[in-house]
Amino acid sequence: MLPDPSDAYEALMQFLYRAPIGLAQTTLDGSVEMLNPMASNLLMPLANEHGLDNLFEVLAAVAPQLPLMVEAFIEPSGVICEGLRLPVGVAHAATGSLQVLSLSLLKLDRERLMATVADATFEVQREQETLHRRLRNAARTDALTRMPNREAVREELQRLIGSQAAAPDADAPQFAVLLINGDRFRQVNDSLGQGIGDQLLMHMADRVRGALRPTGAGFIPPGARVPGQLAGRIGGDEFVVVLESMRSRSDAERVAIRLLDALARPYVIDGHEIVCCASLGLAWGAGAASDPDAVLRDAGIAMVEAKRAGGNRHVVFDPGMRERAARRADIEADLRQALAEDQLFVVYQPVVGLRPDGAVDHAAGVEALVRWRHPLRGIVPPGDFIQVAEECGLIGAVGDFVLERACRDYVSWQARMGNAAPRLMAVNLSRAQLGQPGWIDTVRAILERSSMPAAALQLEVTESLAAQDQDIQGRLHELKALGIKLALDDFGTGYSSLSSLHLLPVDTVKIDRSFVCQADTSAHHRVLIEATVKVAQSLGMNTVAEGIETQSQLDVVRSQRCDKAQGYLYSRPLPAPELLAWLDARMAVAA
Ligand code: C2E
Ligand code: MG
Ligand code: MG
Repeated sequence: MLPDPSDAYEALMQFLYRAPIGLAQTTLDGSVEMLNPMASNLLMPLANEHGLDNLFEVLAAVAPQLPLMVEAFIEPSGVICEGLRLPVGVAHAATGSLQVLSLSLLKLDRERLMATVADATFEVQREQETLHRRLRNAARTDALTRMPNREAVREELQRLIGSQAAAPDADAPQFAVLLINGDRFRQVNDSLGQGIGDQLLMHMADRVRGALRPTGAGFIPPGARVPGQLAGRIGGDEFVVVLESMRSRSDAERVAIRLLDALARPYVIDGHEIVCCASLGLAWGAGAASDPDAVLRDAGIAMVEAKRAGGNRHVVFDPGMRERAARRADIEADLRQALAEDQLFVVYQPVVGLRPDGAVDHAAGVEALVRWRHPLRGIVPPGDFIQVAEECGLIGAVGDFVLERACRDYVSWQARMGNAAPRLMAVNLSRAQLGQPGWIDTVRAILERSSMPAAALQLEVTESLAAQDQDIQGRLHELKALGIKLALDDFGTGYSSLSSLHLLPVDTVKIDRSFVCQADTSAHHRVLIEATVKVAQSLGMNTVAEGIETQSQLDVVRSQRCDKAQGYLYSRPLPAPELLAWLDARMAVAA
């Protein structure tokens, strides 16, 4: 049986009435012919005194372009616009946020339009949330390594500090913050370029993630997190690992060691084999500071201690380190001023020749030693500021100042005293100076500017420095190629042994004061001095005994055929005019 046409009509009306979307039919100028209840509901807030008679008038405030769009649409039928977003300007009943409508306009034929209107408030809200989340994630992610950035790490720390404060039980599991910094990253970046530097950072990030991955966890995509652990990059070559729920400090230290081992393996990037170990500072939750920045600062202080101890190690933060760090920061600030205000000066300590016949050659040479005339603290010895200068990048300026001053003084003494002037000028070098790109050119320029003969200059490097990697060895050979002499300073205190002396490109071995000062009292030290002199002689190297304070010490090193001696027995380091007076006085005695 065919359905009753009136039933079908009624069904259609019901369908249009109940449709959860607004439908309106209008003429081409917007006059409303038909409208379902949903359309009038949605449009009513926009209606003026004419009610909903004309769609274009109703929408004039939010979509004034509609009449023109219709006019411009010359096809007999088709879609004029779709999903046009219309802010209604009233609060949405359910969400309270401003309501937004979505309007589509269809040309049905040459006389009619069909408009569909829908409530798009939720949709717009969702879109905004997604956008917001994306922006937030981008703002919390390091673009290079895809790791969480400083902001994300700070948030995580804030959460952990909060939960720890809520349960202040010293026996409860704690969090640990491990701050990692590459030991040689700057050199790699400077010498091989930023492209390789960036690749190195990405490799380091992978190693950090890899060392944290629990065994059997398989592949973890770069942005993903291992529960209870967060690894982020908070700047340059600085990474942070936050470990949650650690039962003991030694558990956290074990992770630190695993991280350092992973980072110490050589990297191969674009055919370069790069070694970039790292230093790690560990701040342990129980004693941690109460805000994220302070926790990161404490871990950073411990990291700097790890670097000062030679790098490739971890140091656990203790509050006493804060004071030492503050003191170093003071020195750094003062040292910048010292360089600007000429507070640094150079003193010279005679290095005398010990002739086989028992005579002393007082003009054999001098060693230049830097001093700082601090406006409040008086004369500051190099032991109190050289390392700070190395750490904060000021050593280049300090070292260049000493080298230039020493060369100029040497040349002026030669002009003034001729043969009676010291014949060799020794200047100390630090690790950071040798690593600086272009530094060999600086040395060459200083020699030229001061007319210093290269053969009369001796640069002193410490054992641990000379025994370092290929780069450093290369630099030492470049210095030798300029005609400069090299001395191995403080021999006996480092880790290279007599058996590896022949590997180092040095002319002179300076035996450390700690051996010499026991030369007359300890047979053990006497034997070590004797062995050093013999090996050095067999390799054609000179020897200098440092820190001779007594006649009996001198007698021992002399009997062992040490070539030269330096120490308070002869003279303390002296300002240039006093050094010349000292020399004059010896000449007068000899004459
Ligand atoms: P160094 O190169 O081994 O210099 C010898 C140090 O031993 C000097 O200390 C000197 O004053 C001290 N000394 C010499 N004879 C005696 C002695 O008989 N008894 C005792 N107790 N000490 C003696 P100073 O001037 O304090 O320098 C310490 C270190 O600082 C130097 O050790 C050197 O490594 C470094 N240094 C000094 N000047 C410079 C510089 O211009 N640049 C760099 N990079 N380091 C420097
Ligand atoms: Mg020295
Ligand atoms: Mg020395």
